[in-house]
Amino acid sequence: MKVTVLSGGVGGARFLRGMSVVVNGDNISIVGNVADDLEILGLHVSPDLDSILYGLAGLADDERGWGRAAETWNALETVAELGGDSWFRLGDRDLGVHLVRTQMLREGVTLSEATARIAHALGLTCRLLPATDDPLRTFVETPAGTFAFQTWFVARGHRDEVDAVHYAGAPEARPAPGVVEVIDEADVLVITPSNPYVSIGPILAVDAIRSALERRRVPCVAVSPLIGGRAVKGPADRMLARMAGGTSPASLASCYEGLIDALVIDEADAPDALPASVRPVVTKTLMHDAEARRRLAQDVLDAAGALA
Ligand code: GDP
Ligand code: CA
Repeated sequence: MKVTVLSGGVGGARFLRGMSVVVNGDNISIVGNVADDLEILGLHVSPDLDSILYGLAGLADDERGWGRAAETWNALETVAELGGDSWFRLGDRDLGVHLVRTQMLREGVTLSEATARIAHALGLTCRLLPATDDPLRTFVETPAGTFAFQTWFVARGHRDEVDAVHYAGAPEARPAPGVVEVIDEADVLVITPSNPYVSIGPILAVDAIRSALERRRVPCVAVSPLIGGRAVKGPADRMLARMAGGTSPASLASCYEGLIDALVIDEADAPDALPASVRPVVTKTLMHDAEARRRLAQDVLDAAGALA
């Protein structure tokens, strides 16, 4: 069975760790968000792709919740001492990946090819594809002004409320090689418990990706990133409250109109008034350990099986 997963960073990576024990890696394709990518200190950083790489390679720091285990910060301390850009947290081990990726990009290798090489070197068996090789960047409109995603998220600690989200480059962005194929050829499509506006939204903003999902002939199951109407981490709940009018499963489902057939929600959320085309699946969605991750992935596959 072939599973294709649209994924953000941390929430997506946690879910994918579960999926990779339930389904053979060869049968998992991942379409990752690149609209959080940034150029900093002369390096190209792809935070969401890296969260997935580290999660699946067993290199993630589970306690901190992002970045690599056994990380150190010597290079960043030097950057700070020299008055350089130190607001974006880059650890020493993490930097090694950015150095190698940036060199490949400078030599003319595409982001999708660079990602494939890094994934292979880290021993991944899943296929990890950036949504696009073209420049695609999220901007948020807030009462304090419009900010590039990482300026708002990291530098400003995502404290500003968000009135609207823009995906610069989306109209021209083409799916990376293989992306449409892995959607068309999947037996099951999954949207990870990720931020619908800033992680999944940019992937769906690429026209050909949205069209491929719209014409699907297999079930697409989304997993909610909310538990009891609250994001486990980050601003998804505040963004939904302001831009979708609430944090209910129905509010989340409105972000994926016409694109999903089931929505997996937590026992703490009532499956109120979902559109008739979206089946609610109620289960435990907190991925606090390996068993919880595995169980959630299995629940998603069971939900897809019940729809097929
Ligand atoms: P980012 O790109 O690193 O911000 O990560 P994602 O967008 O992929 O994931 C962020 C979302 O993951 C947040 O909205 C969290 O609420 C959600 N999340 C994190 N851990 C869990 C979990 O254990 N269960 C569920 N249901 N959602 C989670
Ligand atoms: Ca992200």
